[in-house]
Amino acid sequence: MEPVLEIRNLNVDYGLGDKAVRAVRDVSLTLHKGEVLGLAGESGSGKSTLAYGMTRLLAPPGVITGGEVIYHPPSGQAYDVLGLSDRALREFRWAETAIVFQGAMNSLNPVHKISTQLTDVLRAHEPKMSEHTRTARAREMLKLVGISPDRMDAYPHQLSGGMRQRVMIGMALILQPQVVIMDEPTTALDVVMQRQILGQLIELRERLGFSVIFITHDLSLLVEFSNRIAIMYGGRIVEQAPAATIYRDALHPYSKGLLSSFPALRGARRELAGIPGSPPDLAGMPAGCSFHPRCPRAFEPCSSAIPVLGRPDVPDGAGRSVACWLHPAEQTVG
Ligand code: SF4
Repeated sequence: MEPVLEIRNLNVDYGLGDKAVRAVRDVSLTLHKGEVLGLAGESGSGKSTLAYGMTRLLAPPGVITGGEVIYHPPSGQAYDVLGLSDRALREFRWAETAIVFQGAMNSLNPVHKISTQLTDVLRAHEPKMSEHTRTARAREMLKLVGISPDRMDAYPHQLSGGMRQRVMIGMALILQPQVVIMDEPTTALDVVMQRQILGQLIELRERLGFSVIFITHDLSLLVEFSNRIAIMYGGRIVEQAPAATIYRDALHPYSKGLLSSFPALRGARRELAGIPGSPPDLAGMPAGCSFHPRCPRAFEPCSSAIPVLGRPDVPDGAGRSVACWLHPAEQTVG
């Protein structure tokens, strides 16, 4: 599959100098055309910082201290998003990559109609488009996200939470971006509404052909809706594999812990268990594998040497990577 976004050796710190805390550590990740890449991990694992970093939306004291984010446009040369001018970056953020944040439904302007907010995006980015075409595009987008175009003149408070989140997804898609980043997009909604909206998003992806980076702490949603899953811990990717492979046979003890925190989707019931302990303090990361203080499988090298992310020594190791001394890398990635 062709890449659309390649994150290479990205490092993100909070703060400068001696006080800096590294929140994303040497992360390399590729999003392919048309795929849904899930990013999972507990709070503080670095997944949202990674999303803000790759789109240069980090608020101070967040600083990108190394790496590249290579975007492959549908036509023309690939370029590094980290090197874009402010103007080019603004265009990139809406037209090439759109982001739907957690609780985005609360970011709709309460004093403007839905129609105005949708057409404003087109007015800003496609100034030559006629008013008639803008309105038609906004109506079409509402329909695509499952809202009757008759609600165009509604104000946000006249819509349910689920409808407002759909409007935000419509706004993210209205310029037909190549990449949509969804950071916990449905966390504020009930589980039925979550699944409805995500199911619809996947249908839209099949129809419109964009790629999705889907960030959540809820691994069960990723197993259901992603093609591939990357798991983060302590600012690093610790495992990456096709979603079905992670669900069936995760290799990293942390991935196994996350999987055992939700009921089986099908087949025999399994016992639910949490992960003991707390995520690491980024200001004082444990030596070696940062998961070792919580890991039920920790052994001799774990507390002193950092395992490298690479292809594991298992028969179906192609297309998988793991950073764990139980499966020393046959070949490193990134
Ligand atoms: Fe556990 Fe060691 Fe693997 Fe880390 S490297 S996850 S401590 S077994």
